[in-house]
Amino acid sequence: MVLLRPAVPRALGTPRLQERVPGGGRGTDADAGGCGDPRGCGSRAGGADGRHVSVHVPAPTATPVKLRNVAGVLRGSDPALQDRFVVLTAHYDHLGVRGQGEGDHIYNGANDDASGTASLMEIAGTLGGLAARPRRSILFLALFGEELGDLGSQYYARHPIFPLAKTIADINLEQLGRTDESGDGEKLGQFNLTGFDFTNLAAIFVSTRSRRASKW
Ligand SMILES: [Zn+2]
Repeated sequence: MVLLRPAVPRALGTPRLQERVPGGGRGTDADAGGCGDPRGCGSRAGGADGRHVSVHVPAPTATPVKLRNVAGVLRGSDPALQDRFVVLTAHYDHLGVRGQGEGDHIYNGANDDASGTASLMEIAGTLGGLAARPRRSILFLALFGEELGDLGSQYYARHPIFPLAKTIADINLEQLGRTDESGDGEKLGQFNLTGFDFTNLAAIFVSTRSRRASKW
C-alpha cells in the first residue's frame, strides 16, 4: 500500500505579480519566478488587469508501507453450513501520534478499538473452546488502517480469503464497554448497533439477554 501525503503549495522565488506580455506574447520563467509551465508563464493572463501569480504545487509524497490484517478461522460443525462464513471484525490501529511538547502524544485507542480487538480475541478463544462449535464457519479478522480510510476492510473486500458470496454477515466490534465519562459517557451494560435496520441481530441479542438475564 502507498500512503499519499498532499504537498503544501508554495510560490517559487519571491512571489510577485507579473505584467502580462502585451499581445499575448510569451514571458520567461525568470519573469515569473519559474512556474514550470512549458508554454511559458507569461502566456496566460490572470484578472482583469492582466496580472497573474505563479504557484508551484509539488506532487504528493508517496511512501510505501506494509499493513497487515490478521485472520483466524473457526470451521463450522455443520457439513451443510460450514462453507458459509460469518465475519467478526475489529480494528487494531488508531491514529498514531499528535502534536509536540510535554505529555502523552499517543492516541492510545483503548476504546477505539483495543476494546473491540480484545473482545475479538476473547470471543475466538471462547467459541474455539466449545465442545459444540458453531454450525457456520466464523472468520475472525483484526483489521489495520481502519480508523482513517477503512483501508483494512477495503483490502479484505478486494482480496477475500473466502468467497464474499458465501459470507453472510460481518459483525464489527467497535468501542465495547466504555468506562470513561467523556463524550457520550459510560457505555457499560449497553449494546449499540449501527445498521440494525439491515438485520434482525438486535432482536436476537435482546431475546438472548432476557433469557439469560437471571444468570447475569
Ligand atoms: Zn474505530
